[in-house]
Amino acid sequence: MIIPVRCFTCGNLVADKHAEFVQRVKNGEDPKTVLDSLKLKRYCCRRMLITSVDVSEQLMPYNEALYRRHAEYSSDRI
Ligand SMILES: [Zn+2]
Repeated sequence: MIIPVRCFTCGNLVADKHAEFVQRVKNGEDPKTVLDSLKLKRYCCRRMLITSVDVSEQLMPYNEALYRRHAEYSSDRI
């Protein structure tokens, strides 16, 4: 899933904070302190960063396989 641009509930912009959040949490900081320092106070906005998972890299093999399958199917029909 692509990172959401705005909070689904209140519409606050959250996409600009996602990269910093992920980087700082990977470096070992507590997610709570990172969210506090990013000035995300509402829990609806906080859950947007905590629960979003970027699965586009995981889905790429399936997309490539689907493309190959479509190419094979198209070549069989001609
Ligand atoms: Zn919100």
